[in-house]
Amino acid sequence: MSSTFSLDPGADQLAVRDWLHGFAADVMRPAAAEWDEREETPWPVIQEAAKLGIYSLDFYAQQYFDPSGVGIPIAMEELFWGDAGIGLSIVGTTLAAVAVLANGTDEQIGTWTPQMFGTPDDLKVAAFCSSEPDAGSDVGALRTRAVYDEARDEWVLNGTKTWATNGGIAAVHVVVASVDPELGTRGHASFVVPPGTPGLSQGQKFKKHGIRASHTAEVVLDGVRVPGSCLLGGKEKLDERLARAREGVKRSGGKGNAAMATFEASRPAVGAQAIGIARAAYEVALDYAKTREQFGRPIIDNQGVAFQLADMKTRIDAARLLVWRASWMAVNNQPFTAAEGSMSKLYAGETAKFVTAQAMQILGGNGFTREYPVERMHRDSAIYSIFEGTSEIQRLVIARAISGMPIR
Ligand SMILES: Cc1cc2nc3c(=O)[nH]c(=O)nc-3n(C[C@H](O)[C@H](O)[C@H](O)COP(=O)(O)OP(=O)(O)OC[C@H]3O[C@@H](n4cnc5c(N)ncnc54)[C@H](O)[C@@H]3O)c2cc1C
Repeated sequence: MSSTFSLDPGADQLAVRDWLHGFAADVMRPAAAEWDEREETPWPVIQEAAKLGIYSLDFYAQQYFDPSGVGIPIAMEELFWGDAGIGLSIVGTTLAAVAVLANGTDEQIGTWTPQMFGTPDDLKVAAFCSSEPDAGSDVGALRTRAVYDEARDEWVLNGTKTWATNGGIAAVHVVVASVDPELGTRGHASFVVPPGTPGLSQGQKFKKHGIRASHTAEVVLDGVRVPGSCLLGGKEKLDERLARAREGVKRSGGKGNAAMATFEASRPAVGAQAIGIARAAYEVALDYAKTREQFGRPIIDNQGVAFQLADMKTRIDAARLLVWRASWMAVNNQPFTAAEGSMSKLYAGETAKFVTAQAMQILGGNGFTREYPVERMHRDSAIYSIFEGTSEIQRLVIARAISGMPIR
């Protein structure tokens, strides 16, 4: 057996981790309860992150291309250890940026990604809008239409998006729309809606159970006209893709679409966010269990409590191994033959819910109050079995991958 197995990300990456940990501990943690209560985007905290270079495309690109393959999960875990709501406000823009990076031309990437982040003195955020009221897990059901106006070389977008992180407050919105409803998901395309485009407006802003510092809202598209150059990938590529889909749609039943490609690429990163929350709650619970005394001894002296902590730590480490594996595979272009990306997000999301619930139990009455952070962490963790594909959808993806069967 080889003795080279290693999960050491290297000195450079560990230095980045420690630097982010400092920001998470000194800037995010102290601000967490306030922005959770305010339920508003924490612009001053994002600004601090921007000044330090943490809120920038360069930073995430550097982490993604780090030779360790685990730069992104390490960064996500530290930031979300600091606070998940603020963390999502800082990294929410990257979902739209990834959509442009994955589907856009070099020119589109160069034009739009800087406008998504702005500058520390003129901060911007971006939104990725796929979900609709009747199209959540079932992306194929989306109704937003994009119609090409050839005379003006413009696309006209109509529809209503929902649950969009940064929706309506974003400078740049990336919108997934159907250009050919008969093709299902293969008839989808992604469009950039530039800042200030008439016809795009924010609908309802949602009051949420958790990650309340992150803005989530409906986005209404009413006759939104964007230049032909805003179609990600360009018209020629779209026409070729549609022609292939029209030929092949009967054979394959329709496979692949822009939104799903974006989600698949980001799943290990989302799993790492969940691990950050879980680790934060576990640490609070471990400290508490060692210092809280009942019946004349620390509560951790009871095997029942100690075993809970043992399970929490074991699950966190197991989840991190899955996330790091999937991240390494993605960076090294390894095919996800057993849906390893989905596995990592499924297990990490469920772990965050399990660990934060256990942490509340270990803190007893204190755990149930807003005097202690585990209550917020538990609320924040709940989204991790819902967004970026629910736990059930991850299981569906894994089951199909391992069986080769069209499991429904
Ligand atoms: C805070 C927040 C932020 C979000 N941010 C974004 C964003 O930035 N951009 C964006 O586009 N979307 C975003 N979303 C949307 C998110 O991705 C969807 O909520 C998610 O995909 C689930 O869709 P749904 O809510 O319509 O649930 P539904 O699809 O209606 O599912 C309801 C339940 O049915 C189950 N279910 C559905 N189909 C099946 C099946 N085939 N087999 C088994 N079970 C099934 C689900 O697992 C779930 O438990 C966000 C959502 C939230 C809450």
